[in-house]
Amino acid sequence: MNYIKAVYDQVKHRNPNEPEFHQAVEEVLESLKPVFAKHPEFENAGLLERLCEPERQIFFRVPWVDDRGKVHVNRGFRIQFNSAIGPYKGGLRFHPSVYIGIIKFLGFEQIFKNSLTGIMMGGGKGGSDFDPKGKSDGEVMRFCQSFISELYRHIGHQTDVPAGDIGVGGREVGYMYGQWKKLTGQFNGVLTGKGLSFGGSLVRTEATGYGCVYFTQEMLKDRKTSFDGKTVVVSGSGNVAIYAHQKATQLGGKVVAMSDSNGFIYDPNGINLETVKQLKEVERKRISEYTKSHKGAQYQDGCAGIWKVKCDVALPCATQNELNEEAAAELVKNGCIAVAEGANMPSTPDAVKIFLKNKVSFGPGKAANAGGVATSGLEMAQDSQWMNWSFAETEEKLHKIMVNIHSSAKNAAEEYGTPGNLVNGANIAGFMKVAQAMMAQGIV
Ligand code: NDP
Repeated sequence: MNYIKAVYDQVKHRNPNEPEFHQAVEEVLESLKPVFAKHPEFENAGLLERLCEPERQIFFRVPWVDDRGKVHVNRGFRIQFNSAIGPYKGGLRFHPSVYIGIIKFLGFEQIFKNSLTGIMMGGGKGGSDFDPKGKSDGEVMRFCQSFISELYRHIGHQTDVPAGDIGVGGREVGYMYGQWKKLTGQFNGVLTGKGLSFGGSLVRTEATGYGCVYFTQEMLKDRKTSFDGKTVVVSGSGNVAIYAHQKATQLGGKVVAMSDSNGFIYDPNGINLETVKQLKEVERKRISEYTKSHKGAQYQDGCAGIWKVKCDVALPCATQNELNEEAAAELVKNGCIAVAEGANMPSTPDAVKIFLKNKVSFGPGKAANAGGVATSGLEMAQDSQWMNWSFAETEEKLHKIMVNIHSSAKNAAEEYGTPGNLVNGANIAGFMKVAQAMMAQGIV
């Protein structure tokens, strides 16, 4: 379709040197072709041009002082992408690879993901090229305070609500919340992922990993099977990976491999999650240390090798483009039947094609990992009512949301002529709600 191609060409032209953003836009626009064939009014309203241009982009300097008194300067970003269906909502990523193209790709994905949750949340994302690895608590705190000293003017519980992502967990959210509260003198749900004693929600820590596994469970049900007795590979060993492991194990799966950015571990007896949690959450060490206490396990340098481990279910939960065409072919060859993305865009476009061609059930990140932001939405709801829900109640809500997301994506895929293709289904279902809101609200 000429319109879709013209918009994509314009995105590339206007945003040069941002390949991750181009990749995310191209995937969504490809899926929307049948929608635009049915709805010519969207083209007249310039819907795609508006959707692909963030409403607001904020760049700022983040100076901070290390423990030796040396001054460092990082770059801070917040992209307020689309507020058609609610306040901007999306995490903050602290990682040296962060630049504007990464934040834009994540913010763009977030629009459709948040829409899929059924909760009133627009799309946004932010972060910094700061690397928390190897920094003391004091250094991380000073960085977070400096970051919020600028960002506080742009966020608010009814305008833009940030949360965690890579490199931003409970510790960082706590420091940022403290500084925001000091600067504004307010106490409300301006950030999610907060500690339980100051407005956080039970299940938020577990939500993305649990949600990804619940989504996979629905895909497995469609194949008339379940997690019971399945061998599972989970990449990463951060927040998402740890709780994906936990829920997959609770449902009867055996997780035999996990990774970090240096390499992966393989334990044929099933990876002991307590050891991984101790290493990664408490001691902040490398995953290679696992083999010191588990003699039957092996460690290999390089993360890509993890996809050569034979499994029934693969859950990429580390980072973007970590699973390429070759890795996808390896998974298919070894009999993998389901792949669900706990991370954002971990599979390259060629890898996705291989999964779809070989009838592997494939859950794209914007659907499969939406449990995190959905539970952030539940945290916002609890904060605004000054209430706390129990773990069981919150998890039940999360479970229902994931089942709904799966059926929305499945139904949209069928309605638009590509049954079983949850990439198309998630993009279309997420888009339709935002499109209707944008059409109703006029040209703004
Ligand atoms: P964490 O920082 O807790 O963990 C990230 C994990 O991925 C670590 O094991 C890290 O290894 C590994 N990793 C990071 N960068 C790379 C890289 N370049 N190559 C290989 N491995 C890497 O982050 P999260 O678990 O929160 O996030 C993981 C993914 O899930 C991201 O894509 C994020 O956007 C997505 N996501 C997260 C949500 C959340 O609620 N947290 C919600 C939805 C999506 P190392 O320790 O060596 O750095």
